[in-house]
Amino acid sequence: MRDTPFKRLAIEAFHRGGGLDAVRWFNRRGLRILMYHHFSDPAALASQCAHIRRHYNPVSISRVGRWLKIGEPLPENPVAITVDDGYRDFLTVAHPVFREYGIPVTVFVVTDFLDGKLWLWVDRVQYAYRRANRPYEESRQMVESLKRLPNAERLSALARLSASLGIVLPSEPPPEYRPLFWDEVRRLAAEGVEFGPHTMTHPILSSISSVSEITREIAGSKRRLEDELGRPSVHFCYPNGSWHDIGEDALSAVRASGFETAVSTIPGLNSRPADPFLLRRIAADPALPERYFHQLAAAFRV
Ligand SMILES: [Zn+2]
Repeated sequence: MRDTPFKRLAIEAFHRGGGLDAVRWFNRRGLRILMYHHFSDPAALASQCAHIRRHYNPVSISRVGRWLKIGEPLPENPVAITVDDGYRDFLTVAHPVFREYGIPVTVFVVTDFLDGKLWLWVDRVQYAYRRANRPYEESRQMVESLKRLPNAERLSALARLSASLGIVLPSEPPPEYRPLFWDEVRRLAAEGVEFGPHTMTHPILSSISSVSEITREIAGSKRRLEDELGRPSVHFCYPNGSWHDIGEDALSAVRASGFETAVSTIPGLNSRPADPFLLRRIAADPALPERYFHQLAAAFRV
């Protein structure tokens, strides 16, 4: 529908008349899991946290696990906050804000990324296009077409791509793409931040043909994180995470690897009984316009 003056008036009336209150009441038993990646503006995040505190009840992923496993009740309008990949801006920008608002957070880390062995392939594509002064839209299209390639082919296509753009990719990620250090992970864990593995190299799991390679990505990242933290990590996060990106083999490997929950990027709310290994999430970003964020959080728009 086009944004006609009538539609704009209707939307205004909806918001003035407490429309989102009605949506929240209707969805009050559904668990919303918000998914963040990057942070640059603490004030924008603080305003989202204030909104969350005013209208929702934040819960930890451990509590979500107990809700799914033994039916421990959740408060009404529950929300869980997740942060993917393990970028360092979680520590420098986001953590102080979430802590100030008393909102529990789970961070899902790519273990080879934190080990300094790689930087994420999507970041490499975006960096190469930006350095080559090519439009952002082109890099988005390239990411989408690279997603469809089998894993090994994607990595070699990536090397050819940067060469064709005349860009040399540094072996270490540039500052905006840097990961947390492991001692920072431990410090954050001691302050109550929960961590879960998000594979070793962030492949699209459905694009890997070998089951043992899929298992290595999943169980290997769990072991690596547990080694660093010295405690079990039982909450997993699929890379990309639409059903098409996950696939049956990865789902079976997650079920068999001792996890309690796994989050996807399939959009929506979660209600019991939900498949604990295919939890739905809502993509969020501190840069979203305020009203749009309020609609997302209410699951009026997912
Ligand atoms: Zn990710």
